[in-house]
Amino acid sequence: MPHDYDVLIAGAGPAGCAAAFDLAEAGRRVLLLDKRHFPRHKACACGLTRKTLAALRYPVDAITERVCEEIVLQRASGAQTVADKTKELRVRSDQPIAAMAVRERFDAYCLEQTLRAGHKGGSVALRKIENILKLEERADSVSLTVMTGEGPITLEAPVVIGADGSNGQMRRLSTGSASVTGQEPEWYTRGFALEAMVPYASLPAELPQGDAPLDLVFDFAPIPGGYGWLFPKGDHINIGVGAFAPSETDSTDNLGLVTRRLLAEYTQCKLGVDLTALGAEITGQYLGMGGDRYQPKGRVLLVGDAAGLVDPLTGEGIHSALVSGQAAAAAILGAPHAIAEAYAHHLEPLQQTLRFSRRAAKAFYREPERGFRVMRWPMLRRMVLKTYADGLGGTGLLAKFAKLAS
Ligand SMILES: Cc1cc2nc3c(=O)[nH]c(=O)nc-3n(C[C@H](O)[C@H](O)[C@H](O)COP(=O)(O)OP(=O)(O)OC[C@H]3O[C@@H](n4cnc5c(N)ncnc54)[C@H](O)[C@@H]3O)c2cc1C
Repeated sequence: MPHDYDVLIAGAGPAGCAAAFDLAEAGRRVLLLDKRHFPRHKACACGLTRKTLAALRYPVDAITERVCEEIVLQRASGAQTVADKTKELRVRSDQPIAAMAVRERFDAYCLEQTLRAGHKGGSVALRKIENILKLEERADSVSLTVMTGEGPITLEAPVVIGADGSNGQMRRLSTGSASVTGQEPEWYTRGFALEAMVPYASLPAELPQGDAPLDLVFDFAPIPGGYGWLFPKGDHINIGVGAFAPSETDSTDNLGLVTRRLLAEYTQCKLGVDLTALGAEITGQYLGMGGDRYQPKGRVLLVGDAAGLVDPLTGEGIHSALVSGQAAAAAILGAPHAIAEAYAHHLEPLQQTLRFSRRAAKAFYREPERGFRVMRWPMLRRMVLKTYADGLGGTGLLAKFAKLAS
């Protein structure tokens, strides 16, 4: 039976949109399903590294609020939980390192570009749903039963992409559990982060710890296995705390340390601002991790946070969302009879990078001082910066390791 759509995609965030864009441009009819109306808030500092900007199929200058050419890395002295300014490292580049955007606007913009995509009969439509109820995979198609405002409907297509983020249902449904409340697959782990927005207008004349309002700061002092951040936007600073390191780095559960209270105290300490008095909203979300061990199967492909592809060293996930969405599209377009195998092949370079990051995170978060000591060498500092901005592929590091190992 002919289908109305060639691909159904659950989730219209960066991963879902990246897949939809490439599929529509190659002539496929795509239906995006999302449970939120856009524009919608999503907890995210929305730092778009050079590699993220390079992976996007269109420029995002229209929604870029600032471009940073320097990152400030901070850590505490001894058992302190406040950064020691005398130990901070400023790593500068002669090119932009990351663009700063507001996530709500970034996602709405990407969705707008995606809904306009389409060549050779390809198109992208968006449908608001309430929830996903059931997933059934057959030899040559997948059916997805979803709850809509008008009641449940069943949609069918040859392939379904699960792009519904870290808390989504597709991962559990597609990896064998019969119910949406089922267990997570064993490879899946999580990080957690909280954020708030502080307008420049509410800052004191001098910031209490001597930071500059426009500094892009990664501060490893406030929490083990993660960091606090200051990301400067157009009219505000996005401040946050998150724990990302894989749990085996530490016997304590760092995620439990990421609390509203910690963020409120951190904001008071770094910015001299009381979040409650400011009336600032604190929002947070899990980050999907462990996806370097995800093995695609069948006709349901997981992408982005749904596939656990957030970088465990940096907590960065938009780049992986884009690259995995595009990898899923390439697999569907290039190998319609062996989609999972093709997707595994296209995903492997990203998974290889994430494996490297997992090992690096384990070493770094165990003893951040050592990492800082290493970065005293200008050449290594440049390498760290290049890896953050361009990824391991950009540094040629993985290729060098592979050569050494062979
Ligand atoms: C506080 C915080 C700060 C971060 N900062 C950065 C950063 O600076 N840079 C960076 O690169 N990464 C950052 N990340 C990570 C980044 O936000 C994620 O990795 C990225 O959003 C993943 O994109 P995605 O498309 O896979 O999922 P998402 O962006 O989560 O999109 C999933 C979509 O699916 C929809 N959905 C969910 N459930 C369903 C359902 N049942 N049915 C239909 N639709 C559904 C959602 O509404 C959403 O639109 C941060 C994360 C957090 C929590």
